[in-house]
Amino acid sequence: MSSIYVHIPFCKKRCTYCNFFSTTLLQRQEDYVNALTKEIILRKEYITNPTTIYLGGGTPSTLPASLLEKIFDSLDKNFNLSYLEEVTIECNPDDLNSDYIKELKNLPINRLSMGIQTFDEEELKVLGRRHNASNAIKAVENVYNSGIENISIDLMYALPNQSLKTWESNLDIALKLPISHISAYHLSYEEDTPLYKLKNLAFDEEKSLEFFNLLREKTSENGFEHYEISNWAKNGKYSKHNTSYWQNKPYLGIGAGAHSYNLEERRWNFSSLNDYINGVLNNTQYSENENLTPDDKYNDLIITMLRTKWGIDINLIVPEYIKHFNKQCDKFIKEDYLKKVDNNIILTPSGIFISDYIMRELMI
Ligand code: SF4
Repeated sequence: MSSIYVHIPFCKKRCTYCNFFSTTLLQRQEDYVNALTKEIILRKEYITNPTTIYLGGGTPSTLPASLLEKIFDSLDKNFNLSYLEEVTIECNPDDLNSDYIKELKNLPINRLSMGIQTFDEEELKVLGRRHNASNAIKAVENVYNSGIENISIDLMYALPNQSLKTWESNLDIALKLPISHISAYHLSYEEDTPLYKLKNLAFDEEKSLEFFNLLREKTSENGFEHYEISNWAKNGKYSKHNTSYWQNKPYLGIGAGAHSYNLEERRWNFSSLNDYINGVLNNTQYSENENLTPDDKYNDLIITMLRTKWGIDINLIVPEYIKHFNKQCDKFIKEDYLKKVDNNIILTPSGIFISDYIMRELMI
């Protein structure tokens, strides 16, 4: 099992909370895709037989279908894609007009992830999103009716001045849509973003927990399974791509800012459009890497596998770390933050909310 991630860093407009690597220089899209197709050739030995491809961003749906087709053609020429199970593209609801949906249908895409965040117009404005609520609802319905039935949406909670009531009505709208997957994230106020000036509106932990518990309750009442800290799926429609990360499998990241991992090293491409494009096209440096130490490998297992409902398989912990691992786990099992099921260590519902702290304690 391995996967390919392709980073498309273009956005038509920057959201107020965003500190991801993205750019509004849409005029560079063609140069960028030329660099992507060259990097695909340069790195075709990094993994074999990928089972998932994920086009993430940024906003991949800012690319015209002709450029998306060029990327897929290049992937097809350079990898054995006969094992592919899932091909996801991240989209902004505003880009999904009926012509664009038809074009996506002609590409090898079978899953679509939509960055909706909220259905409340005021909240959308505060976040600086470019779509409105009715566009988002129509976009989900149109994509579903086109035959792409595996749809995920992203939501955010604990937004400035958000009440439990508005969060609940967001969830009510979301849960009526024909979707099979929800990723929901607590807003974080990042220092280098415009939203940071509203940091005084951040909620305390107790209130954040109320938002989170409401999310858990409503999704569970509607048949969604909480299978990863921030992810819920219906009818077993887990994100196969992200699950492969969480099961510590190798992946190849193509594009500016993309990360790769092959169990022995981590590699990351420069997070600069010019440095990436020039590096790839002129055969000069465009990435850095580090070899993983035994401590890194152990820590990677903790921070990936503990996130999911399947937890950490104790058999995967190598002998030199098992004493530390068991000692730390026992402490959290006594406090009902972790549980042992068969040979796996899994977060309990109360452990999920403090998962960052638990991971830090389990790491070396
Ligand atoms: S669409 Fe996504 S990547 Fe682009 S600015 Fe908004 S949050 Fe950032």
